[in-house]
Amino acid sequence: MRKLPFDKAKLEQIAAEYPTPFHIYDAKAIRENARRLKKAFSWNKGFREYFAVKATPNPEIMKLLKEFDFGSDCSSMAELVLAERVGNTGEAIMFTSNDTPAEEFVKAWDLGAIVNFDDVTHWPFFLDALHRVGRIPAAIAEGANPLSSRLFCCRYNPGPLKGGNAIIGKPEEAKYGFTRDQLFDGYAAMRDAGVRRFGIHAMVASNELDPDYIVDTARMLFELVGELHSRLGIDFEFVNIGGGIGIPYRPDQRPIDLEAVGRGIERAYAELVSGAGLGAVKLFMECGRCVTGPYGYLVSRVLHLKNTYRLYAGLDASMSNLMRPALYGAYHEIVVPGKENATETSVYDVTGSLCENNDKFAIQRMLPVLERGDLVVICDAGAHGHAMGFQYNGKLRSAELLLEDDGSVRLIRRAETLDDYFATLV
Ligand SMILES: *Cc1c(COP(=O)(O)O)cnc(C)c1O
Repeated sequence: MRKLPFDKAKLEQIAAEYPTPFHIYDAKAIRENARRLKKAFSWNKGFREYFAVKATPNPEIMKLLKEFDFGSDCSSMAELVLAERVGNTGEAIMFTSNDTPAEEFVKAWDLGAIVNFDDVTHWPFFLDALHRVGRIPAAIAEGANPLSSRLFCCRYNPGPLKGGNAIIGKPEEAKYGFTRDQLFDGYAAMRDAGVRRFGIHAMVASNELDPDYIVDTARMLFELVGELHSRLGIDFEFVNIGGGIGIPYRPDQRPIDLEAVGRGIERAYAELVSGAGLGAVKLFMECGRCVTGPYGYLVSRVLHLKNTYRLYAGLDASMSNLMRPALYGAYHEIVVPGKENATETSVYDVTGSLCENNDKFAIQRMLPVLERGDLVVICDAGAHGHAMGFQYNGKLRSAELLLEDDGSVRLIRRAETLDDYFATLV
């Protein structure tokens, strides 16, 4: 049984002030985990984690992570603006987008972000977008090149050269990134346009719990940096191994050994970067899930119990508060505070109220015998949880709360109201 940072009495006290459903994040646990992540990679001078904003796009969470000098990995206008508002600008932003609109490239440029290109055609598209709004001249004069001080990156998709992973799929079926050949063309085009500062990126896994898979990604990129350097004569400032480090959603899974990932990448670095004389290359990553995922909870209450062909526990939350189970059949552990040690159990489908039969948080799950009004805590909702929320069926997005180190609770996003829902109608 999962250990929660609150007991039933505490949770009832919180729920008296903030009605269910709500998401609550454990600040202390997020800080401890951030410290641990940094330490695992402290052997690399310049190591930086760029928190994937999409996982938990709340400025209070981003500010908390900024205490550890985490940057922001952004992929949309709103995420760029969020980063800007929390004071992450310049190279504290990694702009890893795809199918990118011109105005987002311009915003990233204006913020001084590191721009990570998803496709070989995006480089000319980017130059054209900047030129159209007067950020760069049509013809760049020798010596006064505004591109030369900026840091640019390409996203590599190894295709069949790397095996697949359940959530993100096989690399050759993924829409992201450059092929291997395109990488050489892309970097050459940038170099010829006067770019002098380069990085490389790949994100080929999602929710990966095998340390070797992450280490292999780093190894693949280090080798590629060596080849790009020797063929194109360019130097690399960083290697960004992307996000995708997993968390143990299921009770039989173990957390990934971050220290082993750190040591494995350190060994690969010694061999392929230091050993190959490639200079001081910084290691970057852009994890979301493993930074906040285990430290956020969706708290809900049993609204109805229904006994038909199955037993159903209907909650006051629905998949609009946490979409992962419906979207990918994801497993989320469910704890019933106050009944942690219950000996009597029953098998339930735990549902929300959407008019969609896949609105289920759990299917045929063994739980303590439930009663109406019981508080139910859905674990591991701290990343890609509230963030994926939507308003289908007129369901409003819930509040987000922060459980501070001293046990106090702070509202960091209020719940939506009907006025919010109707606000965009003309
Ligand atoms: C989603 C995403 C991340 C974060 O992934 P996690 O699984 O949350 O670590 C990082 N980078 C890119 C480009 C992404 O799309």
